[in-house]
Amino acid sequence: MDLKSLIRTIPDYPKAGVMFRDITSLIEHPEGFKESVQKLADPFRDQGITHVAGIEARGFIFGAGLAIELGVGFIPIRKAGKLPGETIGQNYALEYGVDTIEMHAGAVKAGDHVLLVDDLVATGGTAIAAISLIRRTGATLNHSAFVIDLPDLGGAEKIRAQDVETHFLVE
Ligand code: 5GP
Repeated sequence: MDLKSLIRTIPDYPKAGVMFRDITSLIEHPEGFKESVQKLADPFRDQGITHVAGIEARGFIFGAGLAIELGVGFIPIRKAGKLPGETIGQNYALEYGVDTIEMHAGAVKAGDHVLLVDDLVATGGTAIAAISLIRRTGATLNHSAFVIDLPDLGGAEKIRAQDVETHFLVE
């Protein structure tokens, strides 16, 4: 199936000049959604992955499917203030300002092998913050999977420079 053709582009969202790649048109297509999750999982079926960590919010959609597909648990990585238990946080730079992501303290630990999942890599800033956060727990994170790469922005290279392999379905 041509997954790329199921991803629509919305011009000028969230602000003028941005071409937003919208995955809602992919996930509302039953075969397209299923094939996306299966193809995201394929390289990781024999890699000893113990947890999938997904980044809020679109990383939850694909990450949950991937966790079920791989038979492992799912760890939500959320915007600050959203998780009810004790958390650890990681700041990261935005174009203007700073944002924070959090995960539950103790969700993963040394000896665990975490696969990081999100829908899209642009600058790589969000994924690199998530990699730092997860690695601070002592868990191993050497693999990541995303539906879309925007290669002109160089995020994938920055992720690989952290010794994390990247798997994308479309560019
Ligand atoms: P980065 O941190 O790599 O610059 O941006 C990636 C993050 O922003 C991801 O969590 C992703 O969901 C979101 N994002 C940025 N641009 C887009 C886009 O065009 N489409 C979608 N679906 N997400 C985007």
